[in-house]
Amino acid sequence: MTLHNIDIAIIGAGMGGLAAAAALRRVGFGVTVYEQARQFTRLGAGIQIGCNAMHVLRGLGLEQRLRADTFYPRSWNNRDWRTGEVLFDMVFGEPAEEKYGAPYLLAHRGDLHAALASLVPAECLRLDHRLVGLEAAAGGTGRLAFANGATAEADAVIGADGVNSVVRSLLFGNVEPHFAGRIAYRTTFPAQLLAEHGVVIDDCVKWWGEDRHIVMYPVKPDRSEVYFVTSQPEPQFTAESWSMEGDVEVLRAAFEGFHQTVRGVLAACPSVHKRVLLDRDPLEQWGDGTVTLLGDSCHPMTPYMAQGAAMAIEDAAILSRCLDGVDRAGIANALRRYEATRQERTARIQLTSRQNKWGKGATDPDWVYGYNAWTAPLANEDERSLAKTLASQAS
Ligand SMILES: Cc1cc2nc3c(=O)[nH]c(=O)nc-3n(C[C@H](O)[C@H](O)[C@H](O)COP(=O)(O)OP(=O)(O)OC[C@H]3O[C@@H](n4cnc5c(N)ncnc54)[C@H](O)[C@@H]3O)c2cc1C
Repeated sequence: MTLHNIDIAIIGAGMGGLAAAAALRRVGFGVTVYEQARQFTRLGAGIQIGCNAMHVLRGLGLEQRLRADTFYPRSWNNRDWRTGEVLFDMVFGEPAEEKYGAPYLLAHRGDLHAALASLVPAECLRLDHRLVGLEAAAGGTGRLAFANGATAEADAVIGADGVNSVVRSLLFGNVEPHFAGRIAYRTTFPAQLLAEHGVVIDDCVKWWGEDRHIVMYPVKPDRSEVYFVTSQPEPQFTAESWSMEGDVEVLRAAFEGFHQTVRGVLAACPSVHKRVLLDRDPLEQWGDGTVTLLGDSCHPMTPYMAQGAAMAIEDAAILSRCLDGVDRAGIANALRRYEATRQERTARIQLTSRQNKWGKGATDPDWVYGYNAWTAPLANEDERSLAKTLASQAS
């Protein structure tokens, strides 16, 4: 039996679902994560772990593991696509760590996912469980139905099932995500191939073109593996899966006029995958009763600030803080408090990211990276402490 004797179902074992499972288990809840995939696959992709996400991951006990397995960049450098002129150098490394209280790390996406998965015991995970139905049952519990015929009940349901969330559709109806006609090509590959082409890359660099860009960085502490991701117009392409292979020749042609370093990286890269880039406008409502959403299911965003997973990971910490110590009767209120705490920040990041100007010129990064979800005020907390102060002043 768990501390609270409350069972929480999480739909989706992506970064958000796994972080939520770990954070909720930490405060004593029983958690089951239902994932549609039959197994986890290690996609060839990198991920920037902002200092704000690292605060949460540190609290979950993953700091040492991630530091050992990731690259520690001195900055995120922004360069002109043709001349290589530095437009803005967003400094990370030790100065940022000192300022924000946590490091900025560059990881292989599979390594971050595996680190989060290591916090969730096998008995809490149900693979090959695609949610297809959700309805309220007696006593405020939710009844879940899966494509494989299984059913389950839970005291609370967290939809962490990504941009095309079934939980969100079941709650609020199906609305297509926003597609701006842009797609990403991405891949990881051995840095040795760069050396063979005589190419050296910065610690983390975004090359800003007129209607397209490319971001590249190492994902291992010894720089042995590198990653790049692009954003470029290709409105006729609509596939939403990273399993789709891209044509490297088409990609090279799309970046033909770029600086020789970019052309060198693309010449060295053996293969790529491609996929559409999607986001949504901020949602007014995230949940209902004992059901809520988390991560891309409620605030999918373009990757231009490298903050989508960071927001999902922050959500997890705030969710666990709002539910901590709550009994069954208090779950719905706790979920509304979680949503109220998260909505403004995630909406601001979604809308800022959509502009695609982060780092293009002088940028104030403090409000993004300086946030610590373990200590940030929860909704209503300010008002409560203000009321307390006023009451003590009056007495
Ligand atoms: C090109 C690119 C680069 C990015 N770079 C960064 C970066 O550097 N830093 C950063 O912080 N973020 C980055 N992001 C954003 C980040 O990838 C996402 O925000 C993050 O993965 C969202 O996590 P999630 O758990 O909410 O959703 P997902 O990762 O989409 O996970 C959802 C999970 O739910 C499962 N699922 C879906 N439907 C069902 C169902 N019906 N039943 C059961 N399971 C289901 C899926 O199989 C999946 O495992 C990037 C995104 C893109 C596209």
